[in-house]
Amino acid sequence: MIDLHSHTFFSDGALVPAEHVRRVEVLGYAAIAITDHADSSNIHILIPALLKAAKDLNPVTTTRLIVGVELTHVPPALIGPLTAQARALGAQIVVVHGETPVEPVLTGTNRAALEAGVDILAHPGFITEEEAVLAARNHILLELSGRKGHSLTNGHVARMAERTGALLAVNADAHGPGDFLTAAMAETVGLGAGLSRERYQAIRRDMAALVDRLPPLS
Ligand SMILES: [Zn+2]
Ligand SMILES: [Zn+2]
Repeated sequence: MIDLHSHTFFSDGALVPAEHVRRVEVLGYAAIAITDHADSSNIHILIPALLKAAKDLNPVTTTRLIVGVELTHVPPALIGPLTAQARALGAQIVVVHGETPVEPVLTGTNRAALEAGVDILAHPGFITEEEAVLAARNHILLELSGRKGHSLTNGHVARMAERTGALLAVNADAHGPGDFLTAAMAETVGLGAGLSRERYQAIRRDMAALVDRLPPLS
């Protein structure tokens, strides 16, 4: 199992990175990305802290910690510059908190993330077909969310991906120990969004391929 979107107590999650990783190590995860909520106020604190955790933990755990951020409620005009800053600071994966139906995320956030070339557009809500085409063109994974509320539009996101060839990811968006998905629950998220088993297996392969092309720890 791989999950590419989760939160520790560096933002609004419950666990320190060491416990966070341990909780999924016992579930057999190969890798987990910690992508705490970030804007320009904390990005320079968050990424070095997670890099430190990854350097200490990765040699001694069977689950690889991937260092990331989730740019959250950042005005669209700032998403491109903050994505560049995150990568310069050493973030291996950049996620943007997309236009979920359950929060007042600014319209234009999905498009700005897709144009900025982030890695994953999380919970993109009622993403348009035009935006999904942009995701396909820029090899950005659109997220099917395991999180309550964000998951309301999973079926729509899956349909847009099927129509345009955009790649998908299934992530828990875990904030605490009860949120991590087992492999069976992750499959339920995919099948529940209307995908076939074969299509779901392709998502697992696309997520693994993304992990394979991430930059090394800096
Ligand atoms: Zn989010
Ligand atoms: Zn999140």
